[in-house]
Amino acid sequence: MSEILWGAPVAQAIRESLTERVASLQSAGCTPCLALLRCGEDPGALFYERSATKACDKVGIRLKSIRLPWTTGTAELLRELERVNNDPDVHGILVLRPLPRRIDTERVFGALRPEKDVDGITVPSLARTFVGRGTGFAPCTAEACLAMLDHYGIRLEGANVAIIGRSLIVGRPLSMLLSARDATVTLCHSKTRALPAICRGADILVSTAGRAALVDERFVHSGQIILDVGVNESFDGKICGDVAFDAVSPLVRGISPVPGGVGTVTTMLLARHVVEAAEAQAQL
Ligand code: NAP
Repeated sequence: MSEILWGAPVAQAIRESLTERVASLQSAGCTPCLALLRCGEDPGALFYERSATKACDKVGIRLKSIRLPWTTGTAELLRELERVNNDPDVHGILVLRPLPRRIDTERVFGALRPEKDVDGITVPSLARTFVGRGTGFAPCTAEACLAMLDHYGIRLEGANVAIIGRSLIVGRPLSMLLSARDATVTLCHSKTRALPAICRGADILVSTAGRAALVDERFVHSGQIILDVGVNESFDGKICGDVAFDAVSPLVRGISPVPGGVGTVTTMLLARHVVEAAEAQAQL
């Protein structure tokens, strides 16, 4: 019988670790604040915003929502970003994606102050994740995978980990974080040959492809831990992960569900980053 690796207890433990820190900040006259910048009404961006709002509310983080139309251009978005960059009452900034195609995302992400980059999208944040020192934060989803594995006592040292997906917000930074913890990582992508066999050979499989039902019985074995990071819409309009959950879950040692798995932890880690940013900026 496999164990379901729920995100809620992991998020709860992180939340509890923040209570005293937020109280200390508040008694020093500082309420941690996250600015959310969103263009348009993309369902994915709205979903992430709702879940970030819930996590921040639970912890006592103030939110400043900046909603811009889908017709927003680079200059206008940069102006708004500059405002929150320079606002001493804003400690963290989350630029929700997707952004309109006309926006020069590199310029926008490049303009974000690394000390306020709580979702780890700037080059200095990535450099910190890869090198292990400097300014910024690791991308929340990559860190959430590690928090899940630690919470459930999954040994990383010497473990073989297969990651499906090599994006800069999940797969690649996660490969660095795992490697720093002495795991042996195989980073797979859409051109990887014999993907099911590589995945089946791993002790831990993390799927971040964004493809519903990509991971099926051919990818797994009975001793395996599976983290499903994908957030997809199934044919019946429901949210689902990358793993064919009903077929795979009875075959493995442990598996995280979607919804209710890694995503729950991701937004609580975002909240922790805002608290850490506020502490650093308030020099506590
Ligand atoms: P992305 O930038 O589109 O990257 C997807 C990666 O998966 C790419 O590296 C791609 O390979 C690889 N891939 C796609 N189809 C594949 C296939 N059939 N076989 C093997 N590899 C395949 O996506 P992302 O931004 O990393 O997000 C990935 C998923 O995670 C999405 O569903 C997203 O919604 C979800 N997500 C969840 C959270 C959370 O907290 N739970 C947070 C962020 C994102 P190539 O590089 O070769 O194209």
